[in-house]
Amino acid sequence: MKKYFYSIATLALMAFSGVETMAQRTYLHCGQLIDGIKDKPQSEMTVIIEGNQIVGVEKGYTSPAAGAKIIDLKNRTVMPGFMDMHVHFESETSPTAYAEALSLNQATIAFRSISYAEKTLMAGFTTVRDLGGSGVNVQLRNAINQGMVKGPRMFVVGKAISATGGHMDPTNGYRADLQGDPGPAQGVANGPDECRKAVRYQYKNGADLIKIASTGGVLSVAKDGSAPQFSEEEIRAIVETARDLGLKVAVHAHGAEGMKRAVRAGVTSVEHGTLMDEETMNLMKKNGTWFVPTITAGKSVADSAKIKGYYPPLVTPKALAIGPQLQGTFGKAYKKGVKIAFGTDAGVFMHGKNAKEFEYMVEAGMPAMEAIKAATVSAAELLGMSDKLGTVEKGKFADFVAVSGNPLQDIKVLQQVNFVMKDGVVYKQ
Ligand SMILES: [Zn+2]
Repeated sequence: MKKYFYSIATLALMAFSGVETMAQRTYLHCGQLIDGIKDKPQSEMTVIIEGNQIVGVEKGYTSPAAGAKIIDLKNRTVMPGFMDMHVHFESETSPTAYAEALSLNQATIAFRSISYAEKTLMAGFTTVRDLGGSGVNVQLRNAINQGMVKGPRMFVVGKAISATGGHMDPTNGYRADLQGDPGPAQGVANGPDECRKAVRYQYKNGADLIKIASTGGVLSVAKDGSAPQFSEEEIRAIVETARDLGLKVAVHAHGAEGMKRAVRAGVTSVEHGTLMDEETMNLMKKNGTWFVPTITAGKSVADSAKIKGYYPPLVTPKALAIGPQLQGTFGKAYKKGVKIAFGTDAGVFMHGKNAKEFEYMVEAGMPAMEAIKAATVSAAELLGMSDKLGTVEKGKFADFVAVSGNPLQDIKVLQQVNFVMKDGVVYKQ
């Protein structure tokens, strides 16, 4: 009844003042505002939201017109919604994950993915890139966009593309009679023609971007975790086909040779980048290639590998060797001036723990403000969404998080997000 009364009042006021739209405005009163642009927080700010957009940012605590809603965040630090550029909503680490590859049906994967998406949103991540699953991730994105499921705004690769026996070959480790011969439709491609076809399949199935594995990986049941797995010619075919379709390419890479081939071929981002050498860093700077470090995943797989039987025997030594190196590589790449966007590989560890990555980034030498920018303004740039995401400015989507305390003094407070708004809708308060 009360709500009804206010909407009538708002309507009357709008009619009186000649305002044609009926949209209700929300006023966020922000004690401290980190807007993603300035190097220092601003005190006592008001952000005005209408629908899913920011329509104004003002100094001081503005008093709204009657009928508008005030959200009091005077004791909080408010930031743009966080953006994780590397998650996997179709799965979560578990010692039974490998066996489940043969027993889980798509519906079970879908139901689980709903809870992972919600946990991630509640942890303050309002936008993610899902860098690989079976295609359920594409449907999850659609369900979130349609308001059926709570979750971050998703940019999705569908199925990541790999060479036969490569890091994303879905039948690695299966016994011979179950392996079959997966091809471009299953995201497995050999030679430039199949690579083009594999990209086109992902496009057809609704992918927003393409992911490939140009080197071995830790968690695949295969011996080598870092050797190159696509020729440069194959990667070029992928990048050029993707470009024609308006898709960027993210590359999973641990070894330097596979990384260099991918960077020369024009990929947009290098994921993990564990054994990135100086030459690769220079090449990435020259080509404007982004680095998405996933330190949390590295540390987490190394920890899990210490638990007997957690991973298959081929995986354990790779996890122990590669996992602990990511943080050091990140520190070097940051000092060298490689462009960095925040990404964790959540799913390889528990969903919702994404903000741990901030702590690891700061521990490795990145100032807290830079780490926050990596997860906001830089991530938006990587996505090609700078006009709509990543900063608190008029015309951008109303995505916000808030924490108690000052993240510039204690980065760990970002692991305790207590306010989340996405697209102008409050999900946590
Ligand atoms: Zn990943």
